[in-house]
Amino acid sequence: MPSHDVMPNMELYQPVQVEDALAIADRLAERAWLVGGGQDTYGWLKDRAKSVDAMIDLSAIESLRGIRETSDGIEIGALTTLTEVTESEVIQQQYSLLSMAASRVASPQIRNIGTLGGNASQDVRCWYYRRGLDCYRAGGNLCYADTPQGMNREHSLFETSRCVAASPSDTAPALVALDATMVIQSSSGVRTVAAEDYFVGPANDIENTTVLRPGDILTAVRIPNTWANASFYFEKVADRNVWDFALVNIAAAFKLSGDTIQESRIVAGSVQATPRRVSNVENAIRGQSRSAATADSVASMATDGARALAHNGFKIPLMENLVKRAIIG
Ligand SMILES: Cc1cc2nc3c(=O)[nH]c(=O)nc-3n(C[C@H](O)[C@H](O)[C@H](O)COP(=O)(O)OP(=O)(O)OC[C@H]3O[C@@H](n4cnc5c(N)ncnc54)[C@H](O)[C@@H]3O)c2cc1C
Repeated sequence: MPSHDVMPNMELYQPVQVEDALAIADRLAERAWLVGGGQDTYGWLKDRAKSVDAMIDLSAIESLRGIRETSDGIEIGALTTLTEVTESEVIQQQYSLLSMAASRVASPQIRNIGTLGGNASQDVRCWYYRRGLDCYRAGGNLCYADTPQGMNREHSLFETSRCVAASPSDTAPALVALDATMVIQSSSGVRTVAAEDYFVGPANDIENTTVLRPGDILTAVRIPNTWANASFYFEKVADRNVWDFALVNIAAAFKLSGDTIQESRIVAGSVQATPRRVSNVENAIRGQSRSAATADSVASMATDGARALAHNGFKIPLMENLVKRAIIG
């Protein structure tokens, strides 16, 4: 599949009102592709690995940008850039898990353009799929990464169902850990979905990574103040420190009383097609001290049910160690 420097010919819509964007998205449905910062989109279209008739560029819709404090938390417009999320004072002060995660995405240039909505909604990064091969996710009947010769070092440990691609997003685990709500609009109205339910795995839908359907626009992400000022931990392990996707990342929030863990949310990324909440560990550490002893006693539970592929077995101790480090803090 040749790579091109230029975009293919297509219609371009640049609405400035969300109502206009919704009407265009509704009218064009599958024929159109929504674009925020384009950092996932342009690769697909320039490589001709996917094609559409039209692009709806959302970046001129001011009402979809910015971070607002609300009566019960904050609301972040879906078109807010990752740099704005990283640098936001209110996010740094009260929800720093998200600014830490956003600050680890890709590179400064990509964070200046890439949006929170696009980062959360981006497609998987399996190279077989992204080079336009006819794998299961692309409507075919083979997973090239899960064959004896398949290169699968970056792929999933859990919940593989035909496709073994892993979630690439650094912000997605943080949004799940913060119990965020995704606000979705279509021409028929507004609906809200918990971040935990926004992401979908291949057993439920092999062609989409989120619940978004043609005509839907993610307009905002709400973060409730229930986890504001909790004790947060984010760590990403990648082959390079910048401009590289996570091999595994961990986003965690702890409510403490002294050094006793009252409640926690611990979420790993890049271990399956969706952020993976490690609920069994969260339950096991409730009421325990936040200590190395507690971490040691539960770490192996984090990978219960993991199935390593030929080349990604290293992710099992990596995930266990990240869960341990999150608990120790
Ligand atoms: C070299 C490179 C390195 C990268 N490294 C990392 C990394 O380390 N960590 C990481 O998390 N990501 C990484 N990425 C991915 C990149 O960060 C994301 O692709 C980017 O954040 C996506 O944001 P965007 O606004 O540019 O998305 P877009 O390309 O505009 O959109 C991505 C997807 O979301 C959909 N979408 C966007 N906005 C909306 C909306 N408001 N409503 C509905 N659908 C929408 C689009 O239709 C598209 O399918 C990397 C990308 C590159 C090219």
